[in-house]
Amino acid sequence: MQIEKRKSDDKTACIVLKKCGGCQKLHLSYEQQLKEKQKLAESLLNKFHKADPIIGMDNPYHYRNKVHAVFDRDRKGNIISGVYEPGTHRVVLVENCLIEDQRADAIIYSIRGMLKSFKIKTYDEDTGYGLFRHVLIRTGYTSGEIMVILVLGSPILPSKNNFIKALLKLHPEITTIILNINNKRTSMVLSDKEQAIYGKGYIEDSLCGKIFRISPKSFYQVNPVQTEILYGKAIELADLTGNETVIDAYCGIGTIGIIASNHVKRVIGVELNRDAVRDAITNAKRNQVKNVDFYNRDAGEFMGQLAASNEAVDVVFMDPPRAGSDEKLLNSLCILKPKKVVYISCNPVTLERDLKFMVKKGYQVKRVVPVDMFPGTGCVECIIMMTYCGQNRK
Ligand code: SAH
Repeated sequence: MQIEKRKSDDKTACIVLKKCGGCQKLHLSYEQQLKEKQKLAESLLNKFHKADPIIGMDNPYHYRNKVHAVFDRDRKGNIISGVYEPGTHRVVLVENCLIEDQRADAIIYSIRGMLKSFKIKTYDEDTGYGLFRHVLIRTGYTSGEIMVILVLGSPILPSKNNFIKALLKLHPEITTIILNINNKRTSMVLSDKEQAIYGKGYIEDSLCGKIFRISPKSFYQVNPVQTEILYGKAIELADLTGNETVIDAYCGIGTIGIIASNHVKRVIGVELNRDAVRDAITNAKRNQVKNVDFYNRDAGEFMGQLAASNEAVDVVFMDPPRAGSDEKLLNSLCILKPKKVVYISCNPVTLERDLKFMVKKGYQVKRVVPVDMFPGTGCVECIIMMTYCGQNRK
């Protein structure tokens, strides 16, 4: 693996490193970052099994395909956009982020200029006055498609058609523009009120040879280069024969299940977010995958029902959010007793907690594979392969 070295004075390359707080490790060389992540994974997980060496990136910059900017005014009244300073509602101006897709940063920069020329006011969180709150951009790595979501505090964007025209003139690479109306005083960026004002309202991207539709509120891994490695490794570790019934728990838009579908008999995916499940069902059709079913349910409750009806499940892929899984799901898993569980985690602390539970119930950890999904940041992603070694089901 070739690692691009950062020069010692490169620490200043990100001028908001401290204020932004998004990249806790960017002051280190990439080699050093990987060493620290390896150490963290080992300190929490080596008690279950020795961790493999972390899989890093060749070029650990500008990988983020999802970019969020909050809009505000500085003390002089200039429009600024960027991120909240951690723990505050002060906006830190971000011009050039080292981990974000540069196409997205260029669009955000243009929008800042356009707000001035269109005389559009930014939203004031304290008073609720003003209009323009956030921009969220999602980019397709292989497709090149770009979605721009404009989040407003009230429904009317003045001179909407001219605004769209001007934005597309500056950035013809944009494939869809969405208005999202969020008038709540909340830290959630997107509300349920959305309307496509240009293009199809979603983007598509491909991963591991399959095409995926991604709607504004659906989860999609933020680092597309490493995601192919992550999924490829997870499926390899499951060592599938073609006869298995597989569960894809916390399936998002169905990526893991659809990619694994060629290698198994049947996939059952479960996901809480309604938009993501809708994408997953469309994605199965789009890729002509016929052995996959998706359910819009809480994963724990759904697995509880499968356990109660004594369903035969051979392999479970599970990829929960940072909070990890819950006892309902883990208990059901230990009743279903799939031979193999592949747990993908973006938080080794909750992963350790969940593994302790499963090991007590008869699972053994056979592999620990850290993959660097978030260069520059302190986040550590791991794939765990477990097999059931306890008593068989009666
Ligand atoms: N496996 C997918 C998504 C992983 S992110 C991928 O790699 O793209 C975690 C997903 O879990 C999100 O889509 C989130 O909406 C979903 N989720 C969160 N809580 C859940 C729950 N209780 N039951 C089912 N899905 C849940």
